[in-house]
Amino acid sequence: MSDSATTNNPFHIAQKQIRDCAEILGLDDSAREVLLRPMREFHVNFPVRMDDGSIKVFEGYRVQYNDAKGPTKGGIRFHPDETIDTVRALAAWMTWKCSLLDLPLGGGKGGVVCNPKELSQQELERISRGYIKAIGQFISPTKDIPAPDVYTNPQIMAWMVDEYSSIMGNNQFGVMTGKPLPLGGSPGRADATARGGMYTLREAAQEIGLDLSKATMAIQGFGNAGYFAASLATTMFGSKIVAVCDSIGAVGNKHGLDVPKLAEHKLATFSVAKCEGTEDVQDQSLMEMDVDVLVLAALEGVLTEKNADRVKAKIIVELANGPTTPEADEILHRKGIHVIPDFLCNAGGVTVSYFEMVQNAYMYYWDEKEVHEKLDTRMTRAYYEVLNTSKKFQINMRQAAYVVAVERVVEAMRLRGWI
Ligand code: GLU
Repeated sequence: MSDSATTNNPFHIAQKQIRDCAEILGLDDSAREVLLRPMREFHVNFPVRMDDGSIKVFEGYRVQYNDAKGPTKGGIRFHPDETIDTVRALAAWMTWKCSLLDLPLGGGKGGVVCNPKELSQQELERISRGYIKAIGQFISPTKDIPAPDVYTNPQIMAWMVDEYSSIMGNNQFGVMTGKPLPLGGSPGRADATARGGMYTLREAAQEIGLDLSKATMAIQGFGNAGYFAASLATTMFGSKIVAVCDSIGAVGNKHGLDVPKLAEHKLATFSVAKCEGTEDVQDQSLMEMDVDVLVLAALEGVLTEKNADRVKAKIIVELANGPTTPEADEILHRKGIHVIPDFLCNAGGVTVSYFEMVQNAYMYYWDEKEVHEKLDTRMTRAYYEVLNTSKKFQINMRQAAYVVAVERVVEAMRLRGWI
């Protein structure tokens, strides 16, 4: 495999990032060899009865990348373009994310190749249950704990928990996080990814001297992360959201978009496109708009060497996993743009998932205020660990996040006698 990430394969990018970090840390070959590969992966094919009575076979994956620091943790995506290499990359990033936030967890990820937009609720339920039947023996509350991710949600987690509990013969709420509140979900989990990102944005703005109450923002993606980012940025800071897009269309308003109205429109029409009081925006130009803050809250690989040079934002908030390629990273760094890297910026989700695991284990639930405070403390601490490391080693924020996270995983592997 070539060392340059001239490929768009997310796992090649993830491996390049590991190699670069290994260079900075001066890691020996044994550590590199372990870090460059997933420890375990499962590929499954499972039959599902569709609404028309036919049987369709779906393909699913679960990758347990590294469990040196604890059971593997990470979401399940339902996406038509899912590939094993995407899941591998995402599982690697989960490893660094959990380590960076100092959670006693390793990293994993799962995926099912399917298009939820073309499925009925009943079909979605049968796919969720079929996937758990197929991978159930490889997960457990102390082995590997899945959660929601792209196109999966608390209802899907509820079906999965129910299926897993029937297989085990007793309630096993702790096997999934991101569950609905009545089934052992944690207060504050729903908006945790965006909220955690907003805490890091608050610190980043202070670092570069940006007044968020006067800031303009463009948001790519209007799913769980993008919607809550828009909503929290307006309520927490008073920032102005001037453009948002989803997989169907992009809209803008230079005086500031009405976020609740956009959400209502999306619920009714499945997209933000054509929402009243907005004008159409070109999808691609959203990332190049003259705004203070650019929030990337969709999929991987959207900022590349082809468009990074045209980014004008002062801060990039990476709520998506892997939105920026290494080539784009270099360009952004050269331009002096402050990037809050994905596995720092979007770690709020898994952090509150960890709180959910703790609450499930103790069968004792906290209130939302307590969750927010604990999340703020962890996100702020991680932000400054990364910032200080980036200043100390004169490296960019993503490389600094890698240094902090990988060093901890390597230490755990050493202590366990793996390397
Ligand atoms: N899917 C989220 C992520 O990528 C959350 C994972 C979790 O809560 O386990 O971080």
